[in-house]
Amino acid sequence: MDESDLFADDGEDAEAATLTQQALVGTQQNLGKMLDIMPIGLLIHTEQGIVYANRQACSLLQTGPAEVRGHHLLDYMAIADADAVAEALRTTFSDPETTTDVECAVHRPDGTSRLVKLIACSLPWRGNPVIQVLAQDITDQKKAEVSLRQMTITDELTGAYNRRHALYEAELYLEAAALRGMPLSAVMIDIDHFKLVNDTHGHDGGDQVLKALARLAHEYLTTNTVLDSPLFARFGGEEFLILLPGAVRQAAFDVAEGLRRAVERQAFELATKRLHISISAGTATYRASDVGIEAMLKRADTALYVAKAEGRNRVCNSD
Ligand code: GH3
Ligand code: MG
Ligand code: MG
Repeated sequence: MDESDLFADDGEDAEAATLTQQALVGTQQNLGKMLDIMPIGLLIHTEQGIVYANRQACSLLQTGPAEVRGHHLLDYMAIADADAVAEALRTTFSDPETTTDVECAVHRPDGTSRLVKLIACSLPWRGNPVIQVLAQDITDQKKAEVSLRQMTITDELTGAYNRRHALYEAELYLEAAALRGMPLSAVMIDIDHFKLVNDTHGHDGGDQVLKALARLAHEYLTTNTVLDSPLFARFGGEEFLILLPGAVRQAAFDVAEGLRRAVERQAFELATKRLHISISAGTATYRASDVGIEAMLKRADTALYVAKAEGRNRVCNSD
């Protein structure tokens, strides 16, 4: 028996049923086409596994529409994200009113992975629960966001944090320190006679020194395991700032003095020459009477001025 006969009792009805069936098949085909040209992945998922994946989803998972059937979305997830994805799917299966979304990494057969945003909601269905999952590849968008953020918080020449970010972080450090009753100290650093470096080795030579100094300071701070999240920033032309959460007056002095010595020892390599430089530093520690970060930075600056006045290549405490 022809399937269209199911819909018909007589000739006229049979014609209507055939038309209806053709429309249904046509709709399904058109829908399939439309789903395939969608620029976003779409998966239809039962509790057992995937029953349908559009072209974009197949391309994201590097699989074919037949191959993917029967697999579970979790088969493609990074282990670290599996729990969060499983939880989102579980929630969507158990509550038809809920839409869940989760960001996760998808691992693909060629060894690459993509960052994906999954949005899941249930499909109105009579039988076993079925959900639809939209999968949006957000890898490039995330990369752009990260590099844009990186550009806004770092100094282009040295790669150190810039002044704006240092001041922003300083306020956060301050709040955290106040909350935990912990000290916070600052070290203001200035290269000695840097104008002379420029005059002697050219502006490019000066730039090389700034870069090398930032590298040295970064290495010095990150290899010092006693320090808790120190922040190093280029504060101005040849001025740098170190924020030291948890550091009292003496600890801040020791950090600054250690860096001063490391700089003194270092031979800075320029294109044609090696040269030695020195730095001066002023330290200050946050006081309960300070309002905001500015007063501490000003004291560190004043101490730096004293270090310069006393002959440079030295560290002075403000208090
Ligand atoms: P002092 O020991 O008193 O600090 O002397 P100084 O020569 O270091 O101080 P001064 O403030 O007179 O000179 C700082 C110089 O830093 C002047 C400026 O041209 C240079 N400078 C600032 N920013 C940059 C930069 O990005 N690249 C280079 N090459 N030089 C810079
Ligand atoms: Mg200066
Ligand atoms: Mg200077």
